[in-house]
Amino acid sequence: IMVLADLGKRINGAVNNALSNTSDDYAVNVDTMLKAIVTALLESDVNIALVSRLRNNIKSKLMAQKPASGSTNAQTKKLIQKTVFDELCNLVDCDVKEPFNPKKKQCNVIMFVGLQGSGKTTSCTKLAVYYQKRGFKVGLVCADTFRAGAFDQLKQNAIKARIPFYGSYTETDPVQVADEGIKKFKKEKFEIIIVDTSGRHRQEEALFQEMIEISHVVKPNQTIMVLDASIGQAAEQQSKAFKDSSDFGAIILTKMDGHAKGGGAISAVAATHTPIIFIGTGEHVHDFEKFSPKSFVSKLLG
Ligand code: GDP
Repeated sequence: IMVLADLGKRINGAVNNALSNTSDDYAVNVDTMLKAIVTALLESDVNIALVSRLRNNIKSKLMAQKPASGSTNAQTKKLIQKTVFDELCNLVDCDVKEPFNPKKKQCNVIMFVGLQGSGKTTSCTKLAVYYQKRGFKVGLVCADTFRAGAFDQLKQNAIKARIPFYGSYTETDPVQVADEGIKKFKKEKFEIIIVDTSGRHRQEEALFQEMIEISHVVKPNQTIMVLDASIGQAAEQQSKAFKDSSDFGAIILTKMDGHAKGGGAISAVAATHTPIIFIGTGEHVHDFEKFSPKSFVSKLLG
């Protein structure tokens, strides 16, 4: 995960310095460390309220467990590392009691939303391949009639990945196309139908309206928002707007292989209380990883 590599290094550095630092005073060292962590997070575009909560949590935990004077540096270090690790996990963890789990021999409809360029069409194919590999009968529907070429792109991806697809060159109503695609695949006993939608409109409001209309017809079992990890602070506002129109239940974070700051995306997750389920780590169909907060933070901290 290139996006956050620098952030991880800086947090690690701060934790490692916490003990070898100038002061013999535990509280002073904790404060110095927290200052460095806070700066690193803010410079990676993590929302200020989240950063402040994280700082307060770490501080109160560490002060409550202040090591006795006889304890070794190694013990203290372990405590600090664990506390920082746990709080970083909390930052990206949205514990969902009943995560979506498609069932075989049933029709599971998954609808994708997200802005143009976020990696939506690519991620639809990646998810389709992921489920196909696990024995599901999967179909792709292109309900983006706004962008010329959207259907061709999905079609090419689908053919390359050998996934059946549905779309139309002539129908201009995306709701109609979505409806037809779902009906066709349902009739053919497909187990997972993935619906790609438009990512852009003349007006933003029209895009959100379209998401509402499509979702009324499609009745998705799962709605996924695709979010480009590199868009920074804008991620939060964008996610909230999509949440209002399509109440997505999961996020796929894309372009985690890039160099941009990824903190905005972390903030978006927290702002919408929605879990990240996969991350995209490249343009290829297999550049796709299941997301788990613990392994994410472990990788982040190297
Ligand atoms: P859409 O407009 O949201 O459907 O976006 P596309 O799926 O067309 O993706 C936009 C661009 O981002 C394409 O060039 C994709 O190859 C690229 N892309 C998508 N996901 C990733 C990713 O995880 N990593 C990288 N490096 N590129 C990606």
